[in-house]
Amino acid sequence: MYPNTDLHIAGRWRAGGDRQTLDVLNPATGDVIGACAVATTADLDEALDAAARAYPLWRAVAPFERAKRMRKAADLLRERAEDIARILTMEQGKPLPEARMETLSAADIIDWFAEEGKRAYGRVIPARADGVLQAVVKEPVGPVACFTPWNFPINQAVRKISAALCTGCTVILKGPEDTPASSAALVQAFLDAGIPGDALSLVYGDPGAISSYLIPHPVIRKISFTGSTAVGKKLAALAGEHMKRATMELGGHAPAIVFGDADVEKAVAVLAPSKYRNAGQVCVSPTRFLVHDSVFDRFVEGFTAFAKSAKVGDGLEADTKMGPLVHGRRLDAIEALSADAEASGATLRAGGKRIGNRGNFFEPTVFTEVPLTARIMNEEPFGPVAAINRFSDDDEAFAEANRLPYGLAAYAYTRSTARAARVSSGVESGMISINHHGLALPETPFGGVKDSGYGSEGGPEALDAYLVTKFVTQANF
Ligand code: NAD
Repeated sequence: MYPNTDLHIAGRWRAGGDRQTLDVLNPATGDVIGACAVATTADLDEALDAAARAYPLWRAVAPFERAKRMRKAADLLRERAEDIARILTMEQGKPLPEARMETLSAADIIDWFAEEGKRAYGRVIPARADGVLQAVVKEPVGPVACFTPWNFPINQAVRKISAALCTGCTVILKGPEDTPASSAALVQAFLDAGIPGDALSLVYGDPGAISSYLIPHPVIRKISFTGSTAVGKKLAALAGEHMKRATMELGGHAPAIVFGDADVEKAVAVLAPSKYRNAGQVCVSPTRFLVHDSVFDRFVEGFTAFAKSAKVGDGLEADTKMGPLVHGRRLDAIEALSADAEASGATLRAGGKRIGNRGNFFEPTVFTEVPLTARIMNEEPFGPVAAINRFSDDDEAFAEANRLPYGLAAYAYTRSTARAARVSSGVESGMISINHHGLALPETPFGGVKDSGYGSEGGPEALDAYLVTKFVTQANF
């Protein structure tokens, strides 16, 4: 059974003030499977009051005690993973094993932040005069507003909630209306583990109306957003106007460079499944494949064979390797990008069209020889479409990798340590993974540069975003 989703405000699950709801659809069938409550401005005011009321109390809870409760939340998620994964697949579409992995990795993320919160140390700076103490103290920034998308409704939310709670901040989360119930299950695990109800609110509704109310509000001291670059720029501008700190995890268009000396079979074995994971709706999805002339045919053959063999279907079915796109807008966008690539003269090697007329299914698609003027070479695809182009000298590949304003993730395959070193220093990207796919662990930084945003959602850097630095100096009497 798929549950309806209420708002969680001031310790209580409840309908929105005017009892409006939004339909939730199963992307595999198009059927309405549930409803999501919509917050009114009065609801947001209550959530803001709760966040402000809870803040001095929660920051006064010792980091060890915060960590205990957070680890309990992680254990609850593990116990509930099977049920939560089914809900996630029903509303989002990804295959059940991917949904299970998302839920279980969220538990690991909570555990890591719980421990790291104990180590949000300051420092003592040797003074120039006797009897003077100079201390740097880390304090929580205050109540935060977080905005998370539908592609990883648990994982995008858990990184923000965990970093906020472990540092002593309180949270208002605006979750994704298309996929609301799995984010609600995550919040429920935190509440059942003893996180105070006032310290963690969950709201849904009109994203623009909610963000433009919460971001300028004096209670909110920081915002964190994951979503498109276009929306991120608007929210960052609003945050700037009100001097609010911001973390922006935005879109990407990841280059994957396969050099002539690469282990081509390994490159295909890692990059092809990674391209079609979550139907390509992943911010770090490899999207622009740049393959050296000498291995181009082998790479394309292997990659295309994978795309043609991947079983597309309802994520709840056991043999499904790729589910539907999340909503009709995404399906329309991918149809338009593919049509434009074909019209631009790209060679279609696999897929290229919608499957059936029920659910948002699109074939795993491969284009080669794609002109740089095609939309797909310039806009984030965010769908199951790979664009594979060839290069003949390394400089060409580096120039193409850095051509776009995005800089989130980049991948490279080479047996040469010199080439690997050039990739790590020469590609403009927040994250670079060479000869394997090694991104998004809780203990490693996660974030972009250029139009892909700023700030980090992993590693100790993720805690810094929720801490302010206070300098205290004191002389003895
Ligand atoms: P969209 O831009 O309408 O929405 C993207 C996300 O931003 C959604 O969760 C939405 O609720 C939220 N959002 C939109 N306007 C907002 C506002 N004014 N204030 C606060 N939140 C707001 O587009 P979409 O069709 O849902 O997704 C399309 C694009 O979004 C993709 O092409 C991709 O670039 C981007 N996206 C990125 C990520 C990521 O992980 N970086 C995740 C989801 C979507």
